[in-house]
Amino acid sequence: MSQASGGKRKLSLAAWIFIGMFAGIAAGIAFNMLNMADFTTNYLKPFGTIYINLLKFLVVPVVLLSIANGVVSLKDLKRVGTIGGKTFLYYMLTTALALVIGLFFANVFRSLNWFPKLETTDLAYEAKSSNLMQTIVNIFPSNALAPLVNADMLPLIVSALFLGAGILSAGEHGKRIGQFVEDAYEVTMKILMMIIKISPFGVFFLMADVIAVNGAAIVGSLALVILVAFIAYTVHVVVVYGFSVNFLSKMSPLTFFKGMAPAMITAFTTTSSNATLPLTIECSNNLGADPEVSSFVLPLGATINMDGTAIYMGVTSVFIASCYGVDLTLGQMATIVLTATLASIGTAGVSGAGMIMLAMVLQSVNLPVAGIALIAGVDKLFDMGRTTLNITGDATCAIWISRIEKEKRGAPLPWAEK
Ligand code: ASP
Repeated sequence: MSQASGGKRKLSLAAWIFIGMFAGIAAGIAFNMLNMADFTTNYLKPFGTIYINLLKFLVVPVVLLSIANGVVSLKDLKRVGTIGGKTFLYYMLTTALALVIGLFFANVFRSLNWFPKLETTDLAYEAKSSNLMQTIVNIFPSNALAPLVNADMLPLIVSALFLGAGILSAGEHGKRIGQFVEDAYEVTMKILMMIIKISPFGVFFLMADVIAVNGAAIVGSLALVILVAFIAYTVHVVVVYGFSVNFLSKMSPLTFFKGMAPAMITAFTTTSSNATLPLTIECSNNLGADPEVSSFVLPLGATINMDGTAIYMGVTSVFIASCYGVDLTLGQMATIVLTATLASIGTAGVSGAGMIMLAMVLQSVNLPVAGIALIAGVDKLFDMGRTTLNITGDATCAIWISRIEKEKRGAPLPWAEK
């Protein structure tokens, strides 16, 4: 973690991010006890927002250029298809597993009567629900610039895939533009490194605000549902990711989690997979992932692979059902697994997006969408955990695919020597 330089020990960025987070927690507790939550929101949070803005500012160029460049560097479309297919399968399978884990623990808590049943049901929540077919149609852009301008991720990915595929298919004609995409990607990554350097400060300000504002709200009847979600998050990380890293990628899970820590903390505090994407790429590559693989697999994952969001959807569906006194049948649970897997694909990698998509899941099993109001107040806390899982899952896939690709070309696994 630290390295000796000229007699002085220099802390790594990861260590500084840790320090930023703990200092933020300490400051948050202090401001909360002094009843100064307004102060943190008005004067500290804006600095955190600047940090998130800067990360988001790079999201469109990173996604467009890294996916297009990823496709081009894979050199042939068939390879893009094989890697893409494996990635998609891995993402869907781990998301479905996440749902099963989430539903399991939520049902255990419910059967122990640890979830409340509400007396009143007159909750006001303006649901912005989205319907499944429309979500699918919206993946395909009708305007080449709109996805760039609106940072609309799924259509942006489709545009990037077409751009990469077009460059590859154009042969000689595609060479110059392919070179341009590669150069532009390199430049973007350099800008990115400048922004990543301020992460410890960004993390500090964001953490201080969350703790100062939510300190008291964490306790109460919602504590149990938050607890279930975090138990399920942890089990998924340990069991599913641990298994994947250890057995599929042959990497020590400890090495993996240590290497991913800066990205995980950034996800925890920014609650946005998109904003964290630059760090996810950086950490995965440092761990030994093939850059051409990670630049394709990770932006895709930041957009469509949301294991944490899936767990959250499973847990909160059972919680809301319990509050309204509704018993969910096994068939309804299966429906939740299916719709929540799809809903998590449609969930944008931005703060709070999962809560909006939860409406779709609740509707699919006839649960009142207004129930979202019950948990909306503490969504940030759920979001911190789910975003951390979302990006960690992406990285496990990038490492796994990298292992397959390295073995195919007979290259040694860099992590095997460590
Ligand atoms: N904030 C999550 C993410 O960016 C999405 C969600 O709200 O579930 O990964």
